Amino acid sequence: MQVPFVSLRPVHDKLQKEIQLKLSALIEKSDFILGAEVDLFEKEYAQVSETKYCIGISNGLDALKISLKAAGIGKGDEVIVPANTYIASIFAILDAGATPVLAEPDKTTYNITAENIKSAITPRTKAVMPVHLYGQPCDMDAIMEMAEQNKILVIEDNAQAQGAEYKGRRTGSFGHMNATSFYPSKNLGAMGDAGAITTNSETLDRSARLLRNVGCGSKYHHEVVGYNARMDTMQAGVLNSKLPYLNEWNKERKEIASRYIHNLKECSSIILPEAIDGAEHVYHLFVIRLRERDALQQYLTQNEIQTLIHYPVPCHLQPALGHLGFKKGQFPVTEELSQTCLSLPVFIGMTESQIDFVSENIIAFDKQYS
Ligand SMILES: *Cc1c(COP(=O)(O)O)cnc(C)c1O
Repeated sequence: MQVPFVSLRPVHDKLQKEIQLKLSALIEKSDFILGAEVDLFEKEYAQVSETKYCIGISNGLDALKISLKAAGIGKGDEVIVPANTYIASIFAILDAGATPVLAEPDKTTYNITAENIKSAITPRTKAVMPVHLYGQPCDMDAIMEMAEQNKILVIEDNAQAQGAEYKGRRTGSFGHMNATSFYPSKNLGAMGDAGAITTNSETLDRSARLLRNVGCGSKYHHEVVGYNARMDTMQAGVLNSKLPYLNEWNKERKEIASRYIHNLKECSSIILPEAIDGAEHVYHLFVIRLRERDALQQYLTQNEIQTLIHYPVPCHLQPALGHLGFKKGQFPVTEELSQTCLSLPVFIGMTESQIDFVSENIIAFDKQYS
């Protein structure tokens, strides 16, 4: 048996006909920029996110950049961000002209905590960017309370957690601005690049709309220096066909995770993912940890099971951030995570026998170490 890390085929085989018809209709109408599909997606995704507004954006990185810009974050401001995140979170802060201040994650949830954010606050701190890493919600009650007390903005990076809930409320609805990505393999994925911003602020919604569309209030009237960061109309069409399945797909991801957890609970060399109280983890990634990570990955590869590492090089040690002067050893929790984490296959349409096959191989490997 072969198990890929991810396959998008089961989902697309089911929806391909419907999507093809929709794209054909758009071609016939030459309906390519913004328009009804984007409007519809924004309305529906705002509803799913439990926010008043949604702005369709070209991709996740642009959604983060525009969230920060619209919120007025710029030169001289500091933004606190987890040290263990996908590097786009940090690039967005740099693009806004602000300074990223890295904070260590919690050892068991892998997410940033109110406490670690608090100890990174300075008089220049303007915002914090909680990232719901791997699909696991951050402890938003504590983070929102801390942010309010310290008068800083919250910009959620919800790229890995569409549809996740914290105490009955959707992630991507807590922050002043919230950005997400619909990269094809995310929990809700387009057939190309796409992203979105969600917010409850009418003012921020308007700013973000101007910024994504070359500063246009109305055609050829430019109010601010903007970007071209519009959501592609065809991608909006794809996402409109997929959005009704998001809850069902997240449920399936949770079932896959439960089966892994049940199968692997006796493996003494392996640390399994843990959810915090009141959080609904949507398992964008199923990440285990173990000292012999590289050996396990190699063993699984030999048995035709594909795994990935999220992420093998922490952001602060990436050449791209060399100019910020970070040092090895500066974020020990993050560095240990990068050396011990391993993401197992999770995708919609994965069969029970595939989950069990992956599990059996891990159990066999674990026996050598316990
Ligand atoms: C995917 C991702 C992004 C960037 O999204 P793109 O659409 O690829 O630009 C940002 N942050 C996190 C945490 C992500 O996982």
